Amino acid sequence: MMAPFTVAIDGPAAAGKGTISKAVAAHFDLAHLDTGLLYRAVGARMLQGEEPIAAAQSLVAGDLENPDLRTADVAQAASKVAVIPEVRAALLDFQRAFARRSGGAVLDGRDIGTVICPQAEVKLFVTASAEVRAQRRLAELGERGFQTDFDAVLADVKARDDRDMNRADAPLRPAEDAVTIDTSDLSIKDAVACAVRVVAAARDT
Ligand code: C5P
Repeated sequence: MMAPFTVAIDGPAAAGKGTISKAVAAHFDLAHLDTGLLYRAVGARMLQGEEPIAAAQSLVAGDLENPDLRTADVAQAASKVAVIPEVRAALLDFQRAFARRSGGAVLDGRDIGTVICPQAEVKLFVTASAEVRAQRRLAELGERGFQTDFDAVLADVKARDDRDMNRADAPLRPAEDAVTIDTSDLSIKDAVACAVRVVAAARDT
């Protein structure tokens, strides 16, 4: 059995965490958990009228397959339920168990290096300017057939940043020992290469 090896990847919305996390997981043959999906699943159930704490406490695997989880409305709802300490507490054990599974894991989110896995072997903080992130999100929404404009997406990104960075419980911030990768001026290939180098260095020690 391989020893646990956790890669914690945090950062704001649309900074490139998802792409980097998937690529790092594939490169090192690690399991991957997009923890944002857990909050999105709770947010989606709140939009359907459920009480968020009860929804978080009764989340099941099928909730993560809801095709609406990637919509902007669900993203905003996710960041609203994410300020509730009882919601965060309900999702904690699952994330910690995933992080320490044998064979190793990559988790991406907002508080992985600071709260979920402060002992992670590698911590990355992936960021980019709000404008670059809004531009990327706009392109991604366009590819999926959603019509919107830059100003609306930028306002959404900033509202979510504000809620994520200023909440009392597990606010978004880099862990003290995290390596920051600013992807504003990096291609996807270069950003992934940079992350792979940091993980490879930790794997070798
Ligand atoms: O990463 P994603 O954009 O899918 O996350 C949706 C929302 O879920 C975030 O804006 C944040 O409020 C919340 N979240 C969180 N902690 C995590 C992952 C996501 O609070 N580890």
